Order: sequence, then C-alpha cells, then structure tokens
Amino acid sequence: MCGYIFVNGKMAAESRAMVSVKDRGFLYGDGLYETMKSYKGSIFMVDDHVNRLLSSMKVLRYNITFDKEYIKEAIKKTIARNNLNRMDSFVKVIVTRGIHGADLYFKSSYRPSIIVIAGKIKNLDSADYKEGIKIISSSIKRPSMGSPLYSHKLINYFENIYAKDEAHRNGAKEAIFLTRGHLVLEGASSNIFYVRGNTVLTPPLTQNILPGITRKVVIDLCRENGIRVKERKVYYCDFIEADEIFKTSSIAEIVPVSKVDRFEYGKRIPGDITLRIMELYRERAFLYKK
Ligand code: PMP
Repeated sequence: MCGYIFVNGKMAAESRAMVSVKDRGFLYGDGLYETMKSYKGSIFMVDDHVNRLLSSMKVLRYNITFDKEYIKEAIKKTIARNNLNRMDSFVKVIVTRGIHGADLYFKSSYRPSIIVIAGKIKNLDSADYKEGIKIISSSIKRPSMGSPLYSHKLINYFENIYAKDEAHRNGAKEAIFLTRGHLVLEGASSNIFYVRGNTVLTPPLTQNILPGITRKVVIDLCRENGIRVKERKVYYCDFIEADEIFKTSSIAEIVPVSKVDRFEYGKRIPGDITLRIMELYRERAFLYKK
C-alpha cells in the first residue's frame, strides 16, 4: 500500500513527497522531530509531544509559523489518510528551519518545513517484554551538563545512530551514554530507569538528557500509585548493582533489561516493580482518548 505524507500543508503520495535539497534539515541537520504512538487513532500524550516540539522551536529560535492546533490537525489528517484509525501506529512530525543553504547563520524569517509521516509499527519483538533486552555502554562519552542541545529532539542524530549500531554489532538492542565520570545518562533512543529495593531511580533532566514523555508518565504513575521514585545522578557502579532495569520510549513503551554489558539481571524478567509499571502504563495509554 502506498502511504501518504503531509508536506507543508499538502498530502502527497509517498513517492512524490519531497523537500528541497536546499532545506537546512538536509544540509545541516537543522531540524527537530517527535515520534509518538497512536493507539487506534488516538495519540497518547499528544499535547506533551507537540508542546515539546514547539518549545524547542522557540528556544532554538525557529520562526514559528504554525501553532499547536495546526500540528494536531496535520497529525489527524495523516492518520486518517493512511487508514490507521483502527490500529496502533507511529506518527513522526519533522520540522526543519526551512530552505536556505548559503550560510550556517540563519535569519529569523526562514519558513520552517513541516512533515508528518504515519505508519504501522514494525520491529517490536514481543519476546523483549517477557525476556528483557541486552544493552551495552556506548564508546561515546557525553558531557554530563552544560550542553544546550541534548534536551531537544534534533534530527541531527548521528551520535545516537552510531551508538545504536554499536549495540547491534554487539548483539544488544540499546546502547546507553555515559559521561567520562561514569554517570549514566540515557539510551540512544530511550530514557533509563533502575530499581533498587523498593525505589525506582532515573537520571535528572539537568543532565543533558531528553525530557522523555514516557519518562514523565512513568514518574507520574509511580507517584500516583505509591511507588517510591527518585530523579538523581546515576553512577554506572550503582546501576549495575540494580535489582531491575528498564528503558522507556513512546513507541516501545517500557522494556525490561536482562543484561548490561557483561552483567545479568533479575532471576525473573520483568521484575515485580517493572511489571507493575508496564501494566499501569498500558492501562493509561489504552484508556487515553484525545
Ligand atoms: N532519549 C532519546 C535520546 C530518545 O531518542 C528518545 C526517544 N524519542 C527518548 C529518550 C524517549 O523519549 P520519549 O519517551 O519522549 O519517546
């Protein structure tokens, strides 16, 4: 089936959906994106995703030529045009600074491009949720603080692509970024949590990580359901001593981890607290209607 893609206000057949090679997204990776999950046509946490995108556009001084309602409408149209209203699907919204390749310096008048792609979700392996996945530490060491860029979902994702490839080459499904000082930050495409005793821990947003929407939902669910949760610095040596580990992201949701580098976890996967959070999350996502 040929898909349809929303490109700057128009719906185009996939083979005809195009942006200019002079678009700064193509030339410099000067763009932002959001990936969200639609549960039978209803996007979970849609306002949070769209707000994150618009807030990054503002901070990174994009010309904001469309508003939240415009983006939400574009998403709805793309889901409907691709007949995805009755099944779970992914939606990707891409915004670039627009067309103008002459210089790294940009003018505030450039008109951003907006593209919405939606499709069936592939590559989710149900065994991952029952047996857990292996993750590795990436050879890339990131700064723990002081970069204004890691908290935005930039399309310039080469660090993450490189780390994901390292994971695949080592038989793992995710790579985590550490700092030179052995702090655990986040995965190449996920946030990271671990459980010690009865407490769920995750690195704080002050540490150059993406403010994941799934991360936020997990923290809220823990607080609402009497599960102790703390945002604090996570050192690798504490992390590998964890009782349970899981990663979070919008499409894969909550995925238990069975192995980090050479260390194995949990006699039972998912562990009790991870399983409880997985169940609470699914319940919230399925009941959510927007
Ligand atoms: N960190 C990074 C680097 C990511 O790419 C992702 C996936 N978008 C996440 C965290 C998780 O974010 P979210 O829960 O908003 O999907």
